[in-house]
Amino acid sequence: MVAITHADIVNAPKALLHDHLDGGLRPATIVELAAGIGHDLPETDPARLGDWFVAAADSGSLERYLETFAHTVAVMQTEEGLHRVARECALDLAADGVVYAEIRYAPEQHLERGLSLDAVVDAVHSGFRDGCAEAAAQGQRIRIGTLLTAMRHAARSQEIAELAVRYRDTGVVGFDIAGAEAGFPPTRHLDAFEYLQRENFHFTIHAGEAFGLPSIWQAIQWCGADRLGHGVRIVDDITGSSLGRLASYVRDKRIPLELCPSSNVQTGAAPSIAEHPIGLLHDLRFRVTVNTDNRLMSGTSMSREMALLAEAFGWGWSELQWFTINAMKSAFIPYDERLAIINDVIKPAYAKLLT
Ligand SMILES: [Zn+2]
Repeated sequence: MVAITHADIVNAPKALLHDHLDGGLRPATIVELAAGIGHDLPETDPARLGDWFVAAADSGSLERYLETFAHTVAVMQTEEGLHRVARECALDLAADGVVYAEIRYAPEQHLERGLSLDAVVDAVHSGFRDGCAEAAAQGQRIRIGTLLTAMRHAARSQEIAELAVRYRDTGVVGFDIAGAEAGFPPTRHLDAFEYLQRENFHFTIHAGEAFGLPSIWQAIQWCGADRLGHGVRIVDDITGSSLGRLASYVRDKRIPLELCPSSNVQTGAAPSIAEHPIGLLHDLRFRVTVNTDNRLMSGTSMSREMALLAEAFGWGWSELQWFTINAMKSAFIPYDERLAIINDVIKPAYAKLLT
């Protein structure tokens, strides 16, 4: 088999379900926006700033890791900043061959300079609309839906859930909770999840990244999550190829796992790409998807994640197609739209690559 290259992968259609808007800024944009609002950065040269983000996220220090988001969030407090970051996100993903993406962010983190929650969502949506239109004009079609995230240590989840439902016909496709897992179980936000279920809405929950099985169990069996953000610790319920009750349930119900290989290595949830549980979870036929999490902090892209996995596990186009179709089947947009992207975009492209 001829090894597939990063450049080949860029040209193949990909689908992305787990990517944070405040984790994917261009370094040069941070420098310009920070200068405009008088925000101090650790580096003002874009290349060095990009390296600083990856090094801080790699450092193993939670303090330094959190500092990275303090800088990105700081420049996303105005309509102009949010619009620009969203527009560039769409352009960068489209240039990387991503044809479908769900991008998440926490509106409550963008109110420091007086924007309302609705103004934050409007600015992000208009940025994505413009970015997608520009990409399409260049022949790169991408469909983007947003997920509104509530912070699990805060107490605004019901309000954010209602915001998500209010915008469901204008770009928001789902809801999520994020932030430190330990000490902040998903059941803390049960009211929000029950509300979303009554509204027939979709949500994923960050669970089973650093923290183990109880968090996954709560997310699914108490809160009713459609997908698991990461969910990588489900391997704690697998011995060899024998599945415990919870792992069996997750596999039997085809609950999608939003795995983020490079991010997991940086946070210590996996020792290396080659030892990442994605190998086992793929072999056991869980509903595995591949994701970027924070492209800036991990210095990564969808194509790079796919290339790292192809190299580490000897995977080829059939596995990359499987991950892509898994993601598209698990997307929060309507069934007919998912099917159209699978049948009209993904399958024909991979059919050519597989011959
Ligand atoms: Zn995440």
